Amino acid sequence: MKYPESFLKLIEDFKKFPGIGSKTAERLALFTLSSMDKEDVNLFSTHLVDAKTKISTCPICGVLMESHCGICEDETRSQKAIMVVSDEKDVFILEKNHIFDGLYHVLGGSIDFSRGIQAEDLNIDSLFKRLNGVEEVILSLSGTVEGELTAQYLKELLKRYNLKVSRIAYGIPVGADLSYADDQTLERALLNRQKYE
Ligand SMILES: [Zn+2]
Repeated sequence: MKYPESFLKLIEDFKKFPGIGSKTAERLALFTLSSMDKEDVNLFSTHLVDAKTKISTCPICGVLMESHCGICEDETRSQKAIMVVSDEKDVFILEKNHIFDGLYHVLGGSIDFSRGIQAEDLNIDSLFKRLNGVEEVILSLSGTVEGELTAQYLKELLKRYNLKVSRIAYGIPVGADLSYADDQTLERALLNRQKYE
């Protein structure tokens, strides 16, 4: 017996998620049919559409936002420090732990020649338009080759500006992604940031 067409489509949809293979996709599709009531399914589909249509990236800092950016518009945050991160998820990690009270700038990746990602593919130009009144730029980039390359590149460009450039390093293992660091390590890494020269 073959699965009904709409059920097969559902399995195919679940398979599009990272880390979901055929078996898990089938299990999730079965769960949707047998264990979720109509209301749950309706809510789930609404949430999917809402997330995709209502969420965008802040044109200033690049953080995910819905209608307005809670970080850029928060006047209680320090306007004198900008933390540069490669991905939006890094902002969530840092915000979750209330480690930093300045502003962010999301690059949207790292320079990676092996994948053809150059500086101009990243959200870098807009960073330099935000530096008026900023006293410190903190480079919170991963200890990977790509993170290192991106940090070096930014450091060179930031030399033209009269501000402190620091980089978190302490406690973040070489080659590691920020998201692998536990909260305390990340906090220590930020507190012990060093002038980047
Ligand atoms: Zn913003």
